Amino acid sequence: MTRGPNPKVDPERVMELEHAVIDGMDVSGHWNRMFEQRVIFDYDIHQLDRVTELDGGESMGWCYQCAQCVPVCPVDHVGTYGPRRIFRNLQLGQDFFANDDLWLCTTCANCLRVCPKEVDMLQIMPAVRKEAVLAGDVPKELQDVFEKTARYGNPLGKNAKRRAAWTKGLDVDVPLISELDRKVDVLWWVSDYPSYHPRGIDASRALARVLTHLGVDFAILGAEERHDGDSMLRAGESGLFEMLAEQNIETLNQYEFDVLLTTDPHAYNAFLHEYPQRGGTYNTAHYTQFLEERIEAMGLTESIDRTITFHDPCYLGRHNGEYEAPRTLIGALPGSELVEMWRSRENGYCCGGGGGGMWLDGLAADNQSMRLSEKRVREAVETGADTLCVACPYEVSRFEDAVKSTNNDGSLEVLDIAELLAAALGLATD
Ligand code: SF4
Ligand code: SF4
Repeated sequence: MTRGPNPKVDPERVMELEHAVIDGMDVSGHWNRMFEQRVIFDYDIHQLDRVTELDGGESMGWCYQCAQCVPVCPVDHVGTYGPRRIFRNLQLGQDFFANDDLWLCTTCANCLRVCPKEVDMLQIMPAVRKEAVLAGDVPKELQDVFEKTARYGNPLGKNAKRRAAWTKGLDVDVPLISELDRKVDVLWWVSDYPSYHPRGIDASRALARVLTHLGVDFAILGAEERHDGDSMLRAGESGLFEMLAEQNIETLNQYEFDVLLTTDPHAYNAFLHEYPQRGGTYNTAHYTQFLEERIEAMGLTESIDRTITFHDPCYLGRHNGEYEAPRTLIGALPGSELVEMWRSRENGYCCGGGGGGMWLDGLAADNQSMRLSEKRVREAVETGADTLCVACPYEVSRFEDAVKSTNNDGSLEVLDIAELLAAALGLATD
């Protein structure tokens, strides 16, 4: 910038200030004399404005680069991404709407926990992603999942009629609420992966046995259940979320039940925070909370002889404040010891499955040095545990893949809490 003489400046005053000393402090440097307005917006803020002008995008403009988010963002640990960097890139004119960074955030909420300015990625990401979805600018692997979910009611693209197939041949009865034709104490919202994925099914069968052991009056929806939609909303497909929520509320309104029991923390989150705004209010419990209240009645007797570390699901822990229920259950397992990973509870490290990340492994591989699930498995191994215990259906498959890709199969087993409880009750575990 060229500086010319400023007509408003008195030269004698300048000379006086050239040698200025205030209270013993030398302030004679020219930077102490703001005779001219400094140009501080030397960059184009057009791209930043595109984000901050969106409903939900406003807080992107509040970042003041303090870097509190840098050490807690799980993606920052394995790549060149983070809230601080996004703000910086927007200042530098990056088109965020057409950048891979837009899809890397797992909405794990750890940056919001520490950000002094409350820059809120949980609002920003869905808002910008929604625009990208409307423009048709979505990674193909995620677009495929949107389409499968819209068509089949689940992100795996499985036949909706086979949602209750996992109950066939089970040694306990899992009734469909439509066939009972009466009120039940507990309506179990099983969710997609526990209905269709082989390892999710193992956990569902274990939970069905535990509920039966406790004498709980429960039923499921079977083919009437659809994806809860929470992850679609975080991934920017708000139209799909609205459609699913409307259908699910209509289904739930047909039945009478006291408790809506969820396997999936993402479904739990949707029923607590999203469905009530749309007329669907339920007494919702995550299965770890429901079982914690019945731990005395459970009568766990079999020693399981395991050293266990527990992975906090982001949508159970940070999003909804539940850290104790899973730990109470693990602590009650005979012959077990709980060893914590260095990142746990409020600072738990994300598995990479939230916010649509469950279906973006290809994009993550292109942008990260390793998958978040692989980093987490390494942390689990460092504890000396032989068992990585989970309480979210996204995690079993993610962590089992990561155990294999990090060459830890044989030394670390991934098990759902329900599977551990069934074993400690001496129930069948197939
Ligand atoms: S913690 Fe908040 S204000 Fe600080 S750099 Fe991160 S996003 Fe910006
Ligand atoms: S929500 Fe989680 S993944 Fe997303 S930017 Fe914040 S810390 Fe990183």
